[in-house]
Amino acid sequence: PFDVLVVGGGPAGAAAAIYAARKGIRTGVVAERFGGQVLDTMSIENYISVQHTEGPAFAAALEAHVRDYDVDIMNVQRAEELIPGKQIQLKLANGATLKTKSLILATGARWRELGVPGEAEYRNKGVAYCPHCDGPLYKGKDVAVIGGGNSGVEAAIDLAGIVNHVTLLEFGDALRADDVLQRKLTSLPNVTVIKMAQTTEVIGDGSKVTALRYTDRNTDESHEIALDGIFVQIGLVPNNEWLGDVVKRTKYGEIEIDERGQTSVPGVFAAGDATTVPYKQIIIAAGQGATAALSAFDYLIRTSVE
Ligand code: FAD
Repeated sequence: PFDVLVVGGGPAGAAAAIYAARKGIRTGVVAERFGGQVLDTMSIENYISVQHTEGPAFAAALEAHVRDYDVDIMNVQRAEELIPGKQIQLKLANGATLKTKSLILATGARWRELGVPGEAEYRNKGVAYCPHCDGPLYKGKDVAVIGGGNSGVEAAIDLAGIVNHVTLLEFGDALRADDVLQRKLTSLPNVTVIKMAQTTEVIGDGSKVTALRYTDRNTDESHEIALDGIFVQIGLVPNNEWLGDVVKRTKYGEIEIDERGQTSVPGVFAAGDATTVPYKQIIIAAGQGATAALSAFDYLIRTSVE
């Protein structure tokens, strides 16, 4: 069996694998897509000590760093079932079952998409999902935020300090964010809120976003707003559906962990965007991966598992 088996090959999983392997214990990584969300990222400018890099280059560096160590990398493999026990079992989609003394879940998350024409075409060319990441690219420009929940309203407040103007579009007849956030939002001079707005199309000039089309759900009229960027904030979904009820999760599907990365199941730890950690960022996921691996090592030296 493995001493530490990591599920996920993003920043959290890569950090966990390196920290585990450096203890000289048998370490494996199962990843559907090594690199994770970073593969879909254009430029990264907030990983401290790296002033600027591109997502695919960062992902390749993650993998190269893991390959420096004696880690069994099982890429393009999906985990489908976790069976807890003295020896933990992980069933893969290819039919194999892996056994391990401890497990680290680092399966990450995905942004919920609008699913309208133009969204995929202009992804990273005006369509963005992460205000902490891409906000500074829109300095002095006009942007929209789609979604009036906490993350949408937080994004609008954040962006209002950077960009020229923010239009926030909410599908329903009221914002769903906390009152204190809504009060802050309405106090800002450069934010317009449009309710009952269904986004129907992302419009561009072939190389970048130029406008957004929405339908006013009260009147059924279609409107167009000229802008440079669209931040989609309609939810971040953790890739944890396959876990079912085996590991305790929140109503949003996030794995509940303590400050050591311990889950509700002994020997099972978790890190990164798949968990309850506040703020989903590369540097945070990597730090959490390190924490989870050190906790797994601590667990191994305190338990006598054959
Ligand atoms: P992920 O990166 O999501 O990796 C999850 C891993 O688990 C993947 O390898 C995946 O294939 C694998 N996996 C999932 N399910 C299974 C399964 N069942 N079996 C096996 N493997 C599985 N953050 C920043 O700090 N700076 C930025 O500039 C930045 N820009 C971003 C831009 C975009 C477009 C996006 C989408 C995100 C951006 N982020 C940025 C956020 C950042 O990418 C994430 O916070 C970070 O990647 C989370 O790392 P993670 O390891 O927890 O998860």
